[in-house]
Amino acid sequence: MSHALRSIVIVGGGTAGWMTAAALSKVLGQSDCSITLVESEQIGTVGVGEATIPQILTFNRLLGIDEDDFVRSTQATFKLGIRFDDWARVGDSYLHPFGVFGVPIEAIPFHHYFLKLRGLGRLERIDEFSLACMAAPQGRFTRPLDIPNSPLAQIAYAFQFDASLYARFLRRYAEARRVQRIEGRITHVHQHAESGFVESVELDNGRRVEGELFIDCSGFRGLLIGEAMGVAYRSWSHWLPCDRALAVPCQRPGPPEPFTCATARTAGWQWRIPLQHRNGNGYVYSSGFIEEAEAETTLLANLDGATLGPLNRLRFTPGRRERFWERNVVAIGLSSGFLEPLESTSIHLIQSGIAKLIGMFPGRDFAQVDIDKYNQQSINEIERIRDFVILHYKATEREDSPFWRYCNAMSIPDSLAEKIALFRANGRLYREHDELFSETSWLAVMLGQRIVPDAYHPLVDGYPIEPLFQYLDQTRQVIRRAAAAMPTHEAFIRQHCQAATNH
Ligand code: FAD
Repeated sequence: MSHALRSIVIVGGGTAGWMTAAALSKVLGQSDCSITLVESEQIGTVGVGEATIPQILTFNRLLGIDEDDFVRSTQATFKLGIRFDDWARVGDSYLHPFGVFGVPIEAIPFHHYFLKLRGLGRLERIDEFSLACMAAPQGRFTRPLDIPNSPLAQIAYAFQFDASLYARFLRRYAEARRVQRIEGRITHVHQHAESGFVESVELDNGRRVEGELFIDCSGFRGLLIGEAMGVAYRSWSHWLPCDRALAVPCQRPGPPEPFTCATARTAGWQWRIPLQHRNGNGYVYSSGFIEEAEAETTLLANLDGATLGPLNRLRFTPGRRERFWERNVVAIGLSSGFLEPLESTSIHLIQSGIAKLIGMFPGRDFAQVDIDKYNQQSINEIERIRDFVILHYKATEREDSPFWRYCNAMSIPDSLAEKIALFRANGRLYREHDELFSETSWLAVMLGQRIVPDAYHPLVDGYPIEPLFQYLDQTRQVIRRAAAAMPTHEAFIRQHCQAATNH
């Protein structure tokens, strides 16, 4: 007898809920398993979450959606990386690019050669070896081109989009594939008396929605995973002191930049995310170091144009659930944990949770060994990202406010301390246990935050200096020319995927 699931209930219709609904409706195809999504317009969604990383292209491919249609429908722009201003010192600026810096030479990572030549005063800027770093400040963008051996063949990019339009886009997709949406506020969660498995959720109108697998996409509250299952939340506030955000859209004066901007402020940082029809902005700050009124004044004083809506005030605790999957409840999205949007990773974590769930899709027996594996992988993934985000705060030389002095002096997880020590000693970087961020990302942020290795890989000395310099010089010229040959971001959008209304 088949033990395949017959019903799935998704609780919540924010980005997490609709991404999950869309993906499951695609992979479950013609199966008999029903998918129901319950959401409450009265409660609403967090309404933010606009910047992504390149892995989202994999999600779009899974859904089989047309990229130009997706960009038009969500007022999206293209993103080549994140520019960090004023982080290590006021006045500093660096880009964390998508894609790579140079290419390995004789199996030794490129940056060791760069470090050697920089030490000799022959080279200065690593960003000259990244196409994204060269194209982004010029406002240029193109998708990868079919030109063999050209850097233009390997452009890595992501999107910046309107979060509410994204949820609407996915809702249309999912509903067209038989996902049933139910409007209503859940007031009770009914569990099996012995097993504790969730059997149904009850709405404020008394209706019960039954299911075998429940996916908790209810946001920070964690209606099922926290309140019903009692899975505790582990806070990371010691390492990530920001716990509030103010968000507001504004007019954009010039063409949209193909990157997100993160500017360090007195007690946190401000984001700027250019979309086709507006800029998204927000100040992520620590309530222990600044009053809300001052944060609001700072944000409003640092916008590029007139505001286009009210301020959205958000509170959060950085951290994660002790377990992401408990009995027949899987938490995806904010219900499972939260890392501030400094590296635009939350939507990716949703995507990754969905991918893991598909990989370990349960039968009605809910094998504990699968659940344990899912939890182990999810915890490892979010903790490695956590370390990467902490790096930006810890590796600062700023002493101009109590917030930055705290960050500079705070203790950090051993896993991050080891990464920094390895890089500082000999410039070594390792990507561990399938962690999300590559060596390129760690390199960009380590150097951008002024962590300078004491030495480079010793085998680099086997390469004579002059030919090495000639080779690297040629490489940067090729990259410079490739960047200059790209169309402007604005022209690219106009040609391929401009949204119908630009307001
Ligand atoms: P929510 O959007 O809160 O949705 C919860 C859903 O559950 C809603 O539909 C609600 O109606 C429903 N619900 C709750 N309780 C009930 C109930 N009792 N009955 C019925 N329905 C209920 N991520 C990125 O990747 N990039 C970014 O740039 C980014 N920026 C961010 C900035 C900030 C300040 C914050 C806080 C987050 C940011 N994120 C970002 C994260 C991103 O916004 C979220 O990961 C994403 O929106 C997913 O949210 P969610 O769907 O889990 O929760």
